[in-house]
Amino acid sequence: MAPSSARFDTLAIHAGQAPDPTTGAVMTPIYQVSTYAQAGVGGHKGYEYSRTDNPTRTALQACLAELEGGKFGLCFASGLAATDVILRSLVRPGDLVLCGDDVYGGTYRLFDKVLREWGVNFQYADFSSSDPAALVPGRTRLVWLETPTNPLLKVSDIAAVAARCREVGAILVVDNTFATPYFQRPLSLGADIVVHSTTKYLNGHSDVVGGFAALGDAAIYEKMKFLQNAAGAVPGPMDCWLTLRGVKTLSVRMERHQKNAIAIVDYLSAHPGVERVYYPMQSPVARRQMSGFGGMISFELRGDLDRARRFVAATRIFTLAESLGGVESLIETPALMTHASIEPEKRRAAGIADGLIRLSVGIEDVDDLVGDLERAFGG
Ligand SMILES: *Cc1c(COP(=O)(O)O)cnc(C)c1O
Repeated sequence: MAPSSARFDTLAIHAGQAPDPTTGAVMTPIYQVSTYAQAGVGGHKGYEYSRTDNPTRTALQACLAELEGGKFGLCFASGLAATDVILRSLVRPGDLVLCGDDVYGGTYRLFDKVLREWGVNFQYADFSSSDPAALVPGRTRLVWLETPTNPLLKVSDIAAVAARCREVGAILVVDNTFATPYFQRPLSLGADIVVHSTTKYLNGHSDVVGGFAALGDAAIYEKMKFLQNAAGAVPGPMDCWLTLRGVKTLSVRMERHQKNAIAIVDYLSAHPGVERVYYPMQSPVARRQMSGFGGMISFELRGDLDRARRFVAATRIFTLAESLGGVESLIETPALMTHASIEPEKRRAAGIADGLIRLSVGIEDVDDLVGDLERAFGG
């Protein structure tokens, strides 16, 4: 196991993982098992049943927790399962949750269509443009922040929101899926919980759906651990193993995602067919709180929804698909795809134009990627 003084790139490969004690296998085995032999009643080695704990999952939880600088980590069957457990562990009917107005569409759907039915109150606000001191009412129980946001890549000041949350006794949760701990560490900026869809950059190969939360507070951890087991939305050992494997290359992948993304931002910014380009580097707050800006770009095409529909169907390397964060490049139109579950008026009011295109820039050769966009522009 890596010494606790090890740096990020070393932890990504070694944290939570020692050679297998029975065989010396260098990689954590896939413990494809549901139950564990007991020497006598209760005489087990820390594992009784794999919904409660599984060694492959334990290794992944420990690795990701170290990368986020959290004392505790919990893995889930999806990012939304992690979100659901956080909310149901910490929020009760009548409580107020304040949420960014530009969050992942599925997060909004879970809040608005499921948890609101149970009597939780949700308010939405733009944390990127307002003073958090004025934004967070005193009776707020929990603040849900995504930064950079999806799909407009708006950046909010995590430390400033965390300070206001401490004043009013609210819990701050930051969805760090887009930045990853390689570029941004919300717990070190004062957030209470950091949440991920490991489906995206952490696994990085578009072959797993998974979720993760890291935190430092033992009492909150116990509540979430209880619900992880009680509700049972846990990832299987194979998915945990794939994610462990994926995260080993997180640093090198993120560097390349970013290098390619910056080249494409330069290309799009100079293109006459583009109305505007969104990338976190444009924000002074991002330059302060992030060590890099990642591989997500959004841009507004000149033209209508139909023009956007044709554009995303014309690329050949950028695959038309939802999701993001894999080694391969993806393209989509939020208005028709990832954010289609939001009512059109609300979507437009939040700034998601009909002609908006979102790119998840992969790690292919950047000249091929630019050439592919050139083809879609008809050039
Ligand atoms: C994909 C995603 C989620 C949801 O995660 P799933 O693994 O799909 O359940 C949450 N937040 C962000 C920012 C995402 O991109």
